[in-house]
Amino acid sequence: MSESLRSDSEAHGAMEDRSAIALRALGLCKGYEAPGGRLEVLLGVDLTVRRGTLVAIVGVSGSGKSTLLNLLGTLDRPDAGTLEISGLQAENLGEEARARLRAERLGFIFQFHHLLPEFTAEENVMMPLLIAGRSLAEARGEALSALAAVRLVDRSQHRPDALSGGEAQRVAVARAIVSRPALVLADEPSGNLDAAHARGLHELLSSMAHERHQTVVSVTHDARLAESADEVWRLENGRLVPGRE
Ligand code: ADP
Ligand code: MG
Repeated sequence: MSESLRSDSEAHGAMEDRSAIALRALGLCKGYEAPGGRLEVLLGVDLTVRRGTLVAIVGVSGSGKSTLLNLLGTLDRPDAGTLEISGLQAENLGEEARARLRAERLGFIFQFHHLLPEFTAEENVMMPLLIAGRSLAEARGEALSALAAVRLVDRSQHRPDALSGGEAQRVAVARAIVSRPALVLADEPSGNLDAAHARGLHELLSSMAHERHQTVVSVTHDARLAESADEVWRLENGRLVPGRE
């Protein structure tokens, strides 16, 4: 049907539908040049995620989970396929626009936390806001509330080398959520947390999705996180298949 033949209500419905989609990947393919020859990792990944949902991705080691998150986060480009993030077609964006998209709409919780060693926990968490041009006072206030969300206010003046691995990971979580990104991408976020803090993190991710209408896509080995997710997908033979019977 041509645009002009569409009724107002249909057009309106279509628009509402679009804004409810946080992310849509279609036919994503990705391979690497490896010493033994080319390695095809993703062979056509389709994934549609509605706003306000918590999606878990599981799969054996080496199945391509991190590769997929890098594509979904526009940190890497697919060999084929398309990716839409809150209405923007990522493949049409240049590097600068992709960097802006990441800064304004995405939050990353990755395995290697990359905290800046010369800054305190609080300063590390303030950084995304300062880069975005927010005032020092505003950034500090938001950083403290993000640190409170991961129960680390009492470590706010510690530098990374004076934090335990789990604490550093939680600082990285606070930094990823401090700007309230529309879409949070997490790679094994509870990997090096003890059970109590892992549970706290799962509750935080769940409340971000279900109460604050952010969207969370998390790779996980943790059965509890998968349990609290709205959808579970398994990466298998280069594709996503339903992961929960
Ligand atoms: P997962 O996160 O599920 O463990 P990855 O996405 O990290 O898997 O990796 C998928 C496969 O791709 C692995 O076999 C890995 O060795 C390979 N791989 C990942 N990154 C590269 C790279 N930059 N160059 C070559 N091979 C890679
Ligand atoms: Mg990985």
